[in-house]
Amino acid sequence: MPRKRQRERMMSTTHQKTGSTWLSKAGLRPTRQRVALATLLVGDGQNRHVTAESLFEAAKKQGEAVSLATVYNTLRAFCDAGLVQEVTVDGSKSYFDTNTHDHPHFFWEEDGKLTDAPSEELVIASLPEAPEGAEIASVDVVIRLRKTAH
Ligand SMILES: [Zn+2]
Repeated sequence: MPRKRQRERMMSTTHQKTGSTWLSKAGLRPTRQRVALATLLVGDGQNRHVTAESLFEAAKKQGEAVSLATVYNTLRAFCDAGLVQEVTVDGSKSYFDTNTHDHPHFFWEEDGKLTDAPSEELVIASLPEAPEGAEIASVDVVIRLRKTAH
């Protein structure tokens, strides 16, 4: 086997291990498909924002035989297990974030891309009081961006 090829294989094995550890941490059975998707999500140790569609495309590129419905259901299972959090931007599209801590987001309207915004620069001074019989479950901050005209 050529050396470069071997190195790539080794790297992907490490990534896979990271993916399976991430699954077992949440008590999810590491099925082959789950491990493949987990590897794409967190294998390199970086946080990611994906949609079912973008993860599906990434899986296809890796030669993974998986359907969009399976990717969607798997992301839902990851979400239920607390491995990812769902960020709803416009109601029609769900983004899944591997960073499960509270943090604000930038939404790039033209590219449909979601990225993290610096949390230390966000200050919420006060919130409206929850109506009688309700409490605030969470506050999502999505800052929508559009390109400036030159
Ligand atoms: Zn995020």
